Amino acid sequence: MKDCIFCKIVKGDVPCYKIYEDKDIIAFLDIANDVPGHTLVLPKKHVLDLDDCDEILYKKVMLTCKKISRHYLGKGFEGVNLVSNCKPCSGQEVSHFHVHIIPRKENDGAKLTLTPANKKENLEELVKKLRIGN
Ligand code: 5GP
Ligand code: ZN
Repeated sequence: MKDCIFCKIVKGDVPCYKIYEDKDIIAFLDIANDVPGHTLVLPKKHVLDLDDCDEILYKKVMLTCKKISRHYLGKGFEGVNLVSNCKPCSGQEVSHFHVHIIPRKENDGAKLTLTPANKKENLEELVKKLRIGN
């Protein structure tokens, strides 16, 4: 897509610090440089988000996340967070499907946790609304 920054990176029109590439997938360092090794994994084809991505391509993206994550675990990182924002309300800023790999170390100070509300009252109603199948 013409105005998509990630499509420009895929085409080579915008430079990136490339970590991995194959026929369908590319991975490069996030320009934010907030956490060492913060990596973006995406399909070369322009799809908007996980909802717009077919299952075969989605699987390729996620298997690449696994491959890179395992590689990072062998490079001195002790864990990873995988995050994919879907739609603007979730914080998605670039509308080309991507997964963030955030490499982690004990006491690295990265804050990715939600605060538990410690109330169970509405879980009964929520499960009725959200359950898939019986
Ligand atoms: P989102 O908020 O859509 O989940 O994440 C988009 C990510 O893309 C952000 O973390 C942002 O730093 C990164 N990003 C935006 N523009 C560029 C760019 O031109 N190059 C690289 N490498 N990352 C980018
Ligand atoms: Zn794109």
